[in-house]
Amino acid sequence: MASSSKLRTLVGIVAALFLAIALTGCSSAGSDTASTEQDAASQTETASQAQTAEQSSANGSDESTDTEGTDMQPSSEFMQIAISEAYQGIQAGDGGPFGSVIVKDGEIVGRGRNRVLANNDPTCHGEMEAIRDACRNLGTHDLTGCELYTTAEPCPMCLGAVLWSNMDAVYYGCTREDSAEIGFRDDAFYRQLNGEEETVSLQEFDRDTCRQLFDDYAAGDAQRY
Ligand SMILES: [Zn+2]
Repeated sequence: MASSSKLRTLVGIVAALFLAIALTGCSSAGSDTASTEQDAASQTETASQAQTAEQSSANGSDESTDTEGTDMQPSSEFMQIAISEAYQGIQAGDGGPFGSVIVKDGEIVGRGRNRVLANNDPTCHGEMEAIRDACRNLGTHDLTGCELYTTAEPCPMCLGAVLWSNMDAVYYGCTREDSAEIGFRDDAFYRQLNGEEETVSLQEFDRDTCRQLFDDYAAGDAQRY
């Protein structure tokens, strides 16, 4: 019987490992250029896509109650743009049906889609791409005040990234069970974190040696985040 604190520690460790791997980014061949071009076009594109999304929302259900995302109420307008990102990725063969948008004060500050296949990189999930894009655009590692719209419930890696980024809220469409139905393993990874099954060996090793590293760091006054 694992205690909840032990589980939290496990979640933290796994998230940290994922992030350590992911720190190198998803900017493989062409991605940086595409991203830069996207940044340049971002403002106008955002406006036009938002209009399109508004139209499709208006033509669809009345769930979107014109909240504009400014008062912490989710807006279908932004989810539509996340869905659009996902479709672009599918059509390009970049990866699965996962798109994300990050919103701050009612404005899109980052966007991303799954590029696992395009980059041969398992960390290039849509949420990770969107977080990197938002951080790059805002010039900070701290996304306090931001909200994430994503087409599917974040996997443990992306949830860890969300926590590290200090975002205020996550709005996801499909559930982890929905993802499992179409062949993705998010639910299995959550089961590992819950101690329900083990898919990778995780064990402490050479702690004392590594503690010296921590002690050296703690002795300084480097910025904590
Ligand atoms: Zn993920």
